[in-house]
Amino acid sequence: MSYDPKHIRQAHRRLEAQRGQRRAQLASFEAQCRRQLPELARLDSAIRQSVGRAVSAALQTGGDPTQAVERARRENLALQAQRLELLRGAGIDPARLEDAPLCPLCGDTGWHDGAPCQCVTQLCVQENLAELDLQLDSQRFSFDAFSLTWYDPGFDPRLGESPRSLMETVLALCRDYADLFPRHSARNLYLYGGTGLGKTLLSGCIARTVAQRGFWTVYATAGALLGQYEALKFNRDPTGAAQEDVRRFERCDLLVLDDLGSEMTTPFVQSALYQLLNQRLLAGRRMVISSNLDMDAVRERYVPQVASRLEGEFQELPFFGQDVRLQKKEPR
Ligand SMILES: [Zn+2]
Repeated sequence: MSYDPKHIRQAHRRLEAQRGQRRAQLASFEAQCRRQLPELARLDSAIRQSVGRAVSAALQTGGDPTQAVERARRENLALQAQRLELLRGAGIDPARLEDAPLCPLCGDTGWHDGAPCQCVTQLCVQENLAELDLQLDSQRFSFDAFSLTWYDPGFDPRLGESPRSLMETVLALCRDYADLFPRHSARNLYLYGGTGLGKTLLSGCIARTVAQRGFWTVYATAGALLGQYEALKFNRDPTGAAQEDVRRFERCDLLVLDDLGSEMTTPFVQSALYQLLNQRLLAGRRMVISSNLDMDAVRERYVPQVASRLEGEFQELPFFGQDVRLQKKEPR
């Protein structure tokens, strides 16, 4: 499982803000308790002094400091007990005055066992989903909301069954792919078919489900993705955003590439596409591609290296039926 460096940075910023908020709340609660219990401030200062005495006794040179340390320790315990009694007597939970870390697992460092801690990775998932929601109209993107009623239930002799039953199989496979990611037997998916058959919708459902399960998922249309490769190549990247995006396209756990074939297919685009496919396939990183092009059209449009990667490494999922968007506009 990998994490987007950008999401990690955002997660750390959010954690720092939460910690700041917690420190401010603690300080204000402390001030309120001291106003309510003037004795509390005196006890707190006496406790600090007793700790100081224990430390200086321990550092004493010459003579045996054991007795002095023990005296200071007992004095400290007695003061602590008085403080607890004072707070409990006033109905205040002493734990509320302790500066405990928000995340006990990492003590708010953000790292646990040499890896980003859960408190960070959970925020990364939220950042990933928020990003996908910005790009996709996310409310539509749930498998449960995907309706098969738009697909014809009538037998189609060319298909050997009905478009609806074929789409049922496609839907089930996409759902399994997302639920089992990255262990589905189909490593990469190639969704293809005419306009308005639900390819973007289903690839968006896969993206959201996989991101929700904690995997770093990037969604991009082919035009936008290849535009970033061009910006990087032709020095049109003053802010470094294109470079960061290209790294994300290459390193994320799942890349959902929408609408392949809609881009201008220049020699540069062919080579950038090959580089991306090859790099991800070699690294074992998964991809879901959607396109209007079937494999014949892919072979016509792309150089053999690109076409053979798509043909050999992706499970093809043909989409059937009539344009759902057009149907929605017409009364049924
Ligand atoms: Zn943590």
